[in-house]
Amino acid sequence: MARKMLDCREFPSESGCTLTLIGEEAEVLRAGMAHAVDVHGHADGEELRAGLRAALREPAEAAT
Ligand SMILES: [Zn+2]
Repeated sequence: MARKMLDCREFPSESGCTLTLIGEEAEVLRAGMAHAVDVHGHADGEELRAGLRAALREPAEAAT
């Protein structure tokens, strides 16, 4: 199972959000979209989805 990580710290935000999502790509994108719209006020759409997808990382990269 290939899990992906989305770290909200990679996005500039005034709230200094530190949320990290880890799961399968579809799950992370779905939760990330909801989070970005709900918490950060982004507009739902393909542009947001593409931005989130571009920010996906391998979870192992984060294990320091
Ligand atoms: Zn956030």
